[in-house]
Formats: sequence, structure tokens, C-alpha cells
Amino acid sequence: MTHLKTLVRALPVAVAAGLVTAGSLLAQTAAVAPPSSARITKEIAWLADDAREGRGVNTAGLDQAADFIADAFADIGLEPGGTDGYFQTFQLDPNSPALAHTDFGGATVKNVVGILRGSGTLAGEVVVLGAHYDHLGHGDHGYESSSRDTAKVKGIQNGADDNASGTVALIETARSLAARTAPDRRTFVFVAFTAEELGAIGSAYYVEHPAIPLDSTDVMLNFDMVGRLSGDSLTVGGTGSAEELPTALDRANVKYRLNLGMQADPWGSSDHAVFYAKGIPVLHFYTQLHQDYHTAADDWDKINMAGVAEIVGLASDVAWNLATRPDEVTYVAFERPAPPAGGKRASLGTMPDMVSSGLEGMRVQGVREGTAAAEAGIKAGDVILKIGDVVVKDVYGLQEALTTYKTGETVTIVFLRDGERMETKATLK
Ligand SMILES: [Zn+2]
Repeated sequence: MTHLKTLVRALPVAVAAGLVTAGSLLAQTAAVAPPSSARITKEIAWLADDAREGRGVNTAGLDQAADFIADAFADIGLEPGGTDGYFQTFQLDPNSPALAHTDFGGATVKNVVGILRGSGTLAGEVVVLGAHYDHLGHGDHGYESSSRDTAKVKGIQNGADDNASGTVALIETARSLAARTAPDRRTFVFVAFTAEELGAIGSAYYVEHPAIPLDSTDVMLNFDMVGRLSGDSLTVGGTGSAEELPTALDRANVKYRLNLGMQADPWGSSDHAVFYAKGIPVLHFYTQLHQDYHTAADDWDKINMAGVAEIVGLASDVAWNLATRPDEVTYVAFERPAPPAGGKRASLGTMPDMVSSGLEGMRVQGVREGTAAAEAGIKAGDVILKIGDVVVKDVYGLQEALTTYKTGETVTIVFLRDGERMETKATLK
């Protein structure tokens, strides 16, 4: 997941309470073998191995991961959907503002695209499934600003949860769907996106160069960070983007009994938002942030492999339902979040601790050099209570403060350091 937007995104989770009889859906899927946790473990461990170099742009590890995905698509029997076999190769635009402070302009990258042709009267319509396979590399060359590691603990950012887990979920969902048949079924397009961490660049390229024209695409399902299933709680974003999506999820979940937290809002911090911006309903499967998010500690041995298998099962059944229903789902418009007033968003330069400490305030995990926070003397471990007039109860309070105040404004920051209440002034950048 992309770092900054993530902070803005997550909203309180509403727990879905709908219960629907299992009926024909269970009968339809009963013959399909459950995904194998052993294979999932092997695949995630391989993608998140140090040898993949954190799957950063301009690393050999990123290309190895692309080859791995293409081989899996071939093994499953997907038709190549790229311009060079399964690969959709392109150059990162050196003039892109997203790349201004990186070494990545002009780099060659690739999405990996596989197609499972539909059948009967629905074959001309498309369900897209996607997951990004890139991550933060070594946390340098332009990835520094996304990494939450402080200088002391830098290392290869393996991104096991973000997003080896989603990449493998995509592969295993393809495997599950390829084993099913129906007389009338929509075509599935599976896309492993590149350069998501630099701002959803791979998915933005895909929607401008789709394997099958986008106006045939009914719905898009995205896996981004599905590796930390805890208490069977799975968040699904975008459930409000089509009228039928909550029911489709509830029906499939009769078999899995996960605690589904449905978030209606389809805008968010990952590739699905790019599809939603094109008028396509979306779902985003994810298992929430954790303290290893965007650090070198996001490793494969912390992944709930059986949980990934459960999510693959659920997502496969949802995708099958969406691909075989007679009618298209009904798109619902959500207003795009407003960009910050006055152009550039103000920045403080703190890396928030994403794990709720039970304290009021926002605990600072790290401070980036040369930022407003660094100049104001804020340090890792401080708990910010107030910025200007904005009371900061958690990370969302920080976001609110940064939309209230503008670049160049000086604000008083009230914070706790070792339990002592202190104040400083910071000029936002
Ligand atoms: Zn990420």
C-alpha cells in the first residue's frame, strides 16, 4: 500500500451483520479444492526473500518476481495478456511529479497480465483481479519517504504482507477460478501491478492500456496486504461502489465465516482507486495496518498463511459470483476526496506509529531529517497531543491538522515526552 494516502484512508470499520442462506452458491463451489497453505507459504517466502531485494524498481529481484508470476500464470493455463507474452512493459515517466525525488525516472518496469476467457453469453464482459507485486526495495533511491524505518534499522524491505501476500492471493485465486466451469461466465483478467508504492503507477498505466477495453470491465477486485489476518477480521473496502457487492460478500462468507469489516468508500490507497476513477465498481481485500508496515520487519514468517488461504477462498467465490451473475452490478458514485486547499499539502515530517497504544495522541515512530518536525525538535517516542488548535487523538488528527494549516504556517505543537507535557513551534513545509 502507498504510505501517505493510507493515513488519510482508513475509516471506522462497520461490521457486516447480513446473513443469507447458503443455497446454490455452496453447491456451485463445493467441488473446488481449497487453496493449499503449503504452496502459499512457499510462494510468499520466495517473493519476500532477501534475494528479491525488496522488489524495488531497478532491482533484479523485481524482474525475478515478474518472471515468477508469469510462470505461475502459465502453469495455471492463463492466456498471456501483455504486449510481450504476459508482460506489459513500459518506462517510468521521468517528468512524473511522483518520481521527482527518486532515481527511478526512465526505469523499465512491467505489469504481468493473464487472461482466463469466459464462456457463453457473458464472455464479452470482464472481471479484473489485481495485486501489486513491487515494494520498497532497500528503502533508498527514492523509497526513503515511504519507509517508516529510522536510519538505525534500515535493511531490505521484504514486503511480505505488502504485498507478496496479495500477489500470491492473486495467483491462487486464478488457480481456483481456472478449475471452475459455468455455461455463461465473464472473462477474468489477472494483473500483477508494478510501481504501486511510487503512486499506483502500474495500475494507472494498465487502465490506459487495458488488455481488454475497460468499457467491458464490470468490476475490479484488489488484494493489497492480506497477510495478517487476525481474529478472522477481514476488511473489504469499496463495498458501496456497487449496490450488489455487500450481498455478494455475505453470501460467499456463509462458508468462511470471517468477520467482514465492510467499508463502503471505494477511494483509497491502492490500485483499486485507479479503476474506480474510471467508473468501475471495486473491492479491496486487506487485513489492516500493523507495526511492521513499511519497515524491514515485514517478513514472511509473520504471515498468517492459513488466513491467506481463507481470503483466497472467499475472494474466489465472490469473483465467481460476480462473473456468473446474469446482470452487471450497479455502479454507485462516491465523491472523490478533495485535494488539499491551496495545492501542496502541508507536511510535518513525522512517521506515525500505526499501532494504537491506547494513549490519547499520536505517537511518533520516527522523524525525517530536514522536516518541520525535525527542526522543531520532535523526536521518536514523543506523543503529539495538539497541533495549532487541532486536538490530535490519533493519526487522523494529524491528517486533519495538515489540511487545516498550510505550508509556511507556524503552529504550536503540544506533546508528551517521557510523560512530561511540552510545547514547541513548527513551521510546516
Ligand atoms: Zn505499501
